[in-house]
Amino acid sequence: MLKIMEVEKKYEGHVVVLPYPSQGHINPLLQFAKRLASKGLKATIATTHYTLSSITSPLVTVEPISDGFDDGGFAQVRSEELFLESFKTNGSRTLTQLIKKHQATKNPITCVVYDSFLPWALDVAKENGILGGPFFTNSAAVTAIFSRIHGGELKLPLRLEDCPVVIPGVPPMNLEDLPSFLNAPESYPAYLRMKLNQFSNLDKADWIFSNTFQSLEHEVVKGMGKQWPAKLIGPMVPSAYLDGRIEGDKGYGASLWKPLDEDCAKWLETKPSNSVVYISFGSMVSLTQQEMEEIAWGLQDSGCYFLWVVKDSERHKLPKAFLDLTTQNQEKGMIVSWCNQLEMLAHDSVGCFLTHCGWNSTLEGLSLGVPMVGVPKWADQLTDAKFIKDVWCVGVRVKVDNVTGMVNREEVVLCLNEVMDEGKRSLEIKKNAGKWKELAKEAISEGGSSDRAIDEFVMSLKGT
Ligand code: UDP
Repeated sequence: MLKIMEVEKKYEGHVVVLPYPSQGHINPLLQFAKRLASKGLKATIATTHYTLSSITSPLVTVEPISDGFDDGGFAQVRSEELFLESFKTNGSRTLTQLIKKHQATKNPITCVVYDSFLPWALDVAKENGILGGPFFTNSAAVTAIFSRIHGGELKLPLRLEDCPVVIPGVPPMNLEDLPSFLNAPESYPAYLRMKLNQFSNLDKADWIFSNTFQSLEHEVVKGMGKQWPAKLIGPMVPSAYLDGRIEGDKGYGASLWKPLDEDCAKWLETKPSNSVVYISFGSMVSLTQQEMEEIAWGLQDSGCYFLWVVKDSERHKLPKAFLDLTTQNQEKGMIVSWCNQLEMLAHDSVGCFLTHCGWNSTLEGLSLGVPMVGVPKWADQLTDAKFIKDVWCVGVRVKVDNVTGMVNREEVVLCLNEVMDEGKRSLEIKKNAGKWKELAKEAISEGGSSDRAIDEFVMSLKGT
């Protein structure tokens, strides 16, 4: 019998894309890989063993590399320091093996696009004679802040008397608007070092990519000048929600937890237009029991319908009486352990996104035109919240109690009302949200600023 062998197509360039192995990093880098594949390059995602099975996309190939903790990654070691060191050693070794494995094939790897948290990947690329560039997963504003710390223009720790901090293109920032640990840098030494290391070998990179777009942050990028000549290629949100040019691209294609989409969608179907608050604190934030209680009762008191993502590991922090109420009366609210956030945000019933202001969530809220209530907890979330409220004017931000540093239920109610009540402020926010939705779509659509930036990269790679 004649066996028909599948013959691999020859591509004009092969990019290996290397994300940091967490949900908020895999999503945008995988999306970029899909975008590159849709433009005719071969794209391979190189990801750690334990995230391998969570990634599925018909457009990209997925290959394993090692961070040295193949069964559980960071959860196995629980030390940023050890994890990053191990990832550097084992990641460099296994990325090299991956590049070598493809060398003699029809599609040798010609470029490495790596998470800016992993600058060692550029050394690997250069040692193997190929091109490379980092992908920044934060906003340009956050990058500008860390770039100035790296360059010595901003000295740590930042104190009250150093504020407002003025950075070209960025509005004056107070402590509450700046990445949280900058006033106590010793509290997260490994994390801070990682953020500063992003700039350590930038001069050797062939390109720099940033998940933002011209109309959103051009002033910040202009302010950074030659220090950061980034290609703005965002928003890296699945195509179905923006330009629709990648067939069937309705989700990122990566989920580290099992989503309960069907239940959520059915429940949302029963609710009127713009009546539901969707709440998520992303994949990493862990609230205190008191914060969970205040948010729970705030939601209840607001009278709004709500769909709240509470990971299984956090569920025990919900007040029992609130859980009982929600279970007895599913009419009012639904609590799920994980869902396809984009699908929920895109639903006509969802009128507000109560968010921790992670950068992906922020871009998703902007791209889908959903007004936001920011409840930032740490790191870059505080800066994103500042922009959501004061620069793009697409939402409000909860005020935290001066003493406890926490949000209380009255403030939750106040903020939800402000966004949902159809009053002057609410209408203004909705109008702005609609404007940014259009601008996000325009950026990534054919001929838009991000689309052109991606095309330039693809063309230069095809020429190599
Ligand atoms: N997300 C999701 N389902 C959920 C909650 C979050 O798919 O139930 C996704 C969300 O769409 C986003 C990512 O998880 O793309 C979280 O990234 P973000 O930068 O907002 O926050 P992080 O998790 O990194 O703090």
